[in-house]
Amino acid sequence: MKNKVVFDLASRIKHLPPYLFASIDQMKQKAIGKGIDLIDLSIGDPDIPTPSRVVNAMKKAVEKPEHHRYPSYEGMFSFREAVAKWYRKRFNVRIDPLTEVLSLIGSKEGIGHIPLAFVNPGDTVLVPSPGYPVYPIGALFAGGENFFMPLRKENDFLPDLDAIPAKVFRKTKLMFINYPNNPTSAVAPLAFFKEIIRIAQKYNIIVCHDASYTEIYYDQKPMSFMQAPGAKDVAIEFHSLSKTYNMTGWRIGFAVGNKEVLAGLGKVKTNLDSGVFQAIQEAAIVALEMGQDTLSGIRKTFQERRDILCNGLTKLGMDLMKPKATFYVWVKVPYRFNSMSFVTHVLDKAGVLGTPGNGFGAAGEGYIRFALTAPAKRIDEAVKRISIIL
Ligand SMILES: *Cc1c(COP(=O)(O)O)cnc(C)c1O
Repeated sequence: MKNKVVFDLASRIKHLPPYLFASIDQMKQKAIGKGIDLIDLSIGDPDIPTPSRVVNAMKKAVEKPEHHRYPSYEGMFSFREAVAKWYRKRFNVRIDPLTEVLSLIGSKEGIGHIPLAFVNPGDTVLVPSPGYPVYPIGALFAGGENFFMPLRKENDFLPDLDAIPAKVFRKTKLMFINYPNNPTSAVAPLAFFKEIIRIAQKYNIIVCHDASYTEIYYDQKPMSFMQAPGAKDVAIEFHSLSKTYNMTGWRIGFAVGNKEVLAGLGKVKTNLDSGVFQAIQEAAIVALEMGQDTLSGIRKTFQERRDILCNGLTKLGMDLMKPKATFYVWVKVPYRFNSMSFVTHVLDKAGVLGTPGNGFGAAGEGYIRFALTAPAKRIDEAVKRISIIL
């Protein structure tokens, strides 16, 4: 008789719950299997296609044999230059394309890897809760200990920095922040960024600002962390083409800012990956150089959807803040529910899928996140269906 072969998972992943959106995907497949006409507002993956100029640039670039070989580790110079120009134009921030830009295989890749460059076992990493799940997981993989900073409505979904003890700051190597924020849609003022820089300088903390949503806004343009004085002394900023240009499938992003921090991240990356397919970088240059017309069209589409969902849910008596940026709506669940029971109720009874707030961290309990990633007509239909099951 043969012994049954057993492969035990490594302890670093053994007790991790499945990745949030992998579980949501299962709920979705199950609902579709039951024949439900599902309105999926769960995942932040735009349903709008990539602008055709970008697609056409890719078609041309893919034919070039020089792109068929390994790319450079830090990204093509022309791509890094396009990033620097974009920062100058959009934020009036000077970035040196030679030393202050690093290409990434999507910003998720850089966010997940940065702790490997700077966090030793036992070091503290400050992480927002609710927040993008990759921040605490990347920290855990490096042996770090997460200290969660709750984002609460009464503090405009900014972390209460005064509530963090000095002894926690002293043990902290790195902190993640993200504005415009996923999942709460909050936008941060300059004063908050300045306070973060003051603390980071005092306690020697690397600030990692996730700026994925700066281009999805409705009235006022959100800031880059790099606009705050002294930002480059302590911070890098992650950016992505995914959300701005509807390019989630392409896998390209970048980080800018402090060159020592970028060099550390680059050192991890040279040992793990070999950069971004150059044809994709060439298409990304076209995206970054595109005028505002395309983007304002995309913003209008999200704004119409936002107004339908927010006005509709508010009329139903639901508690929410109309987003100034991002394509997320962060809604308090009715009092007789918790996050998960409400998500299940809305899925089973209305065929509408949202994301449970507690999936983004304990402080997200009591909320559901809806993403504006379905056509206006479907969002209108979602509101109608929810109205009869509340
Ligand atoms: C979508 C998202 C990312 C990841 O973007 P990619 O560039 O596609 O990896 C990072 N951070 C936040 C907050 C996001 O919502």
